Amino acid sequence: MEELKKSVMDRRQFVTGVLAGTTLLSAGLPGSLAWAAEPPSFSLPALPYAEGALAPYISAQTISFHYGKHHRAYVDKLNDLVQNTPLARQPLLEVVKRVAGRADQAAVFNNAAQAFNHDFYWRSMKPGGGGSPSGDLAARITTAFGGLDPFRKAFAQAAATLFGSGWTWLVLDGSGLKVLQTANADTPVAHGLTPLLTIDVWEHAYYLDYQNRRADYIEAFLSHLANWDFAAQNLAAAGRAGK
Ligand code: MN
Repeated sequence: MEELKKSVMDRRQFVTGVLAGTTLLSAGLPGSLAWAAEPPSFSLPALPYAEGALAPYISAQTISFHYGKHHRAYVDKLNDLVQNTPLARQPLLEVVKRVAGRADQAAVFNNAAQAFNHDFYWRSMKPGGGGSPSGDLAARITTAFGGLDPFRKAFAQAAATLFGSGWTWLVLDGSGLKVLQTANADTPVAHGLTPLLTIDVWEHAYYLDYQNRRADYIEAFLSHLANWDFAAQNLAAAGRAGK
């Protein structure tokens, strides 16, 4: 209860601060231009395909809610939270890294990390995906897991056993690949790891299509949706960045 009171108090003080900032900003500007002077810092990235493009494995209805409501809400909330703070106008990943682990910035972290995670998730899938990786990525998967099938087992096991809400990732850790679970909004970039591919295992990602059958959703992701080109691009970009 004390926590709740404190949080309400912080929020009030925050709102007061925002209002004061807005007043300052609008001084000398015509009313309508005052709002135009400070556009939102973050925008909802476009989906890389049509909402129905992943059907029948993920329905247009699921994407419509997941992208149009959930993802959008994280972006909107993040804009509310950082407006008129030093975090506004920073790149999204910079915000995630700056506030990671700070108890006083948990709301900013949760919304910024979820904004990043969802954009990464949409691009981790494509119509006609699944199949096999090739080149350097395939070689590193063999080194790390013993082959594509053992990787699929490890990834599916991690995604299926993640308790509650969260994400499962293929990440680059040093020069090796790993499967990683993160809870709630947590993200590999907050831990110095390079994400290559992810699946969202929050219930909102699959419940309309699969109800409680999370394993079937994971299987559909691996067999029909996983975008290995995107994972390979992420690996190559990390190589160029010297990771
Ligand atoms: Mn989600």
